[in-house]
Amino acid sequence: MRKLIVGNWKMNGTLAQLDEIGQIQAGAAAYDNVDSALCLPATLIHAAKQRFADFQFGGQDCHHAPKGAHTGCISAEMLTDAGSAMVILGHSERRSDQGESDADVRAKASAACAAGLHVILCVGETEAQRDAGQTETVILAQLMGSVPDDIAAEHIDIAYEPIWAIGTGRVPAIEEIASVHAAIRTHLTERFGQAGRAVRILYGGSMNGDNAAAILAVPNVGGGLIGGASLTAEKFLPIIKAAS
Ligand code: PEP
Repeated sequence: MRKLIVGNWKMNGTLAQLDEIGQIQAGAAAYDNVDSALCLPATLIHAAKQRFADFQFGGQDCHHAPKGAHTGCISAEMLTDAGSAMVILGHSERRSDQGESDADVRAKASAACAAGLHVILCVGETEAQRDAGQTETVILAQLMGSVPDDIAAEHIDIAYEPIWAIGTGRVPAIEEIASVHAAIRTHLTERFGQAGRAVRILYGGSMNGDNAAAILAVPNVGGGLIGGASLTAEKFLPIIKAAS
């Protein structure tokens, strides 16, 4: 299975960063056995796609409704219109900052698919849940609650992102990543049958050029979702290289 390396720029970047995006796109072209993409602030997607048409871009959230009186929100169709191929949904920062529930994420995932977007749906446990030995229970409940039953498995990838590993420089042991990814795979195949085997399960949380090769070699790790280390070509390209 081809690996997918996705950068999540979060609330970073203005038009001044288009040159950096160009360096990422040019560097990533050398690794044509890897799928790579950047999920940008919505304000940058159109300009980036105009300049770098061959590269894949995505958003970081969308509303569950197709349009309407939702001040400040962005619909899935608006993301495709701007040039997005995908959208990150259910990121832990949105679950905590915006109070998004599994039901919210599920509705957004359905809306995104209906608009033709590929969904990268995030799940992950807190440090307290991990310490209490609840990691797999939490992850499986999030998958049950946020992945729509009727979604076509080829329209979704899952990102396992331990919340305590995001932006902290801390990463789970390889065995922990292997065990959670195996549990997610079992869930997906039980729910979606053979198609569940083709869903990529990305790892996210402090991935960088030094640890990427070891993480990406873990069974059932189909790629990475990268925050801080995706903001520059210098840091992002070694991760794409590690996936190649
Ligand atoms: C993220 O927020 O999706 C993420 C993985 O961040 P970082 O790589 O900075 O830990």
